[in-house]
Amino acid sequence: MQHTNASLTEEETHIDPVCGMTVIATTAAGKHDYKGKTYYFCGPGCMRSFQKEPEKFLAPDYKPSM
Ligand SMILES: [Zn+2]
Repeated sequence: MQHTNASLTEEETHIDPVCGMTVIATTAAGKHDYKGKTYYFCGPGCMRSFQKEPEKFLAPDYKPSM
C-alpha cells in the first residue's frame, strides 16, 4: 500500500437543491442538468420534484426542507 495522499479524497460534494442535503457526486441517487449546471439529488423523489418544477427550487426565496 502506497497512499501518498491517504487523507485526500476526490469526492465532490453538492447540495441537493430540493432538501438542502449534502450529496456526494459519486453516490448521488440521481442528477439532472438544467441550464448548463448539474444538480445532484439524495433520492429519486427529490430528483423528480426538481425535474417537474426546477424554477421553484432555484428561486432565491426557496428554503430547502427535509
Ligand atoms: Zn434530497
